[in-house]
Amino acid sequence: MQNPDMLPDDASTVLARLAQVQARIAAMTAAAGRPPGSVALVAVSKTHPREAVLEAMQGGQLIFGENRVQEAVAKFAGLRADHPDLRLHIIGGLQTNKARDAVRIADVIESLDRPRLADAIADASAKEGRTPDLLVQVNVGDEPQKAGVARADADKFIESCRERFGQRLAGLMCVPPATTDPVPHFAWLAACAARHGLATLSMGMSGDYEAAIRQGATHVRLGSSIFGSRPAI
Ligand SMILES: *Cc1c(COP(=O)(O)O)cnc(C)c1O
Repeated sequence: MQNPDMLPDDASTVLARLAQVQARIAAMTAAAGRPPGSVALVAVSKTHPREAVLEAMQGGQLIFGENRVQEAVAKFAGLRADHPDLRLHIIGGLQTNKARDAVRIADVIESLDRPRLADAIADASAKEGRTPDLLVQVNVGDEPQKAGVARADADKFIESCRERFGQRLAGLMCVPPATTDPVPHFAWLAACAARHGLATLSMGMSGDYEAAIRQGATHVRLGSSIFGSRPAI
């Protein structure tokens, strides 16, 4: 028997799955009593080839997420020349020595989570003459292995980023613990963003985006439900 991961899902192409996901987001947004179009889809193309990105673009998808800067550079270099509306989000833990490449290529860096990275992004922005929009990633579950500023340090860090980056600080992002109810984590992040007057809330992945939309997500980051399962790394 073939590996079931190699068999098509009920919707067997990126285009079909993308259309399905777009319809689900629209339905969930309406069910949450929120205006149409208030939740943007970030298609997480990590580990999937450039062809998959091109297929999603045929379905009207323009916002993509990658968690590794080098992979993003390799996959997206050149695409922007032909597709000026393309938007690339860096969503993974970012090393300071990758900050310059990230600032050069990204429209949004969703993983700003510590002062030294803020320093590196500020330096790189000065050198590159551009600053991407920035989201502070909060480690809402305070998990030791996960990126993100600790809950207890979030207010202070957000304030310092606002002073430094002004309007470029657009909002907050989180990845809740895999094994617990994500709702209290999403609610905490939404309250934190509201407290700081931040409009963007990036939360919700393939397994939990309905709950995230109900809690006010403005961006959901979906990978496997669009591109299929990823090879184990
Ligand atoms: C991989 C990844 C996603 C997408 O996960 P899926 O479960 O495939 O939808 C979203 N956010 C981050 C930070 C990721 O690393």
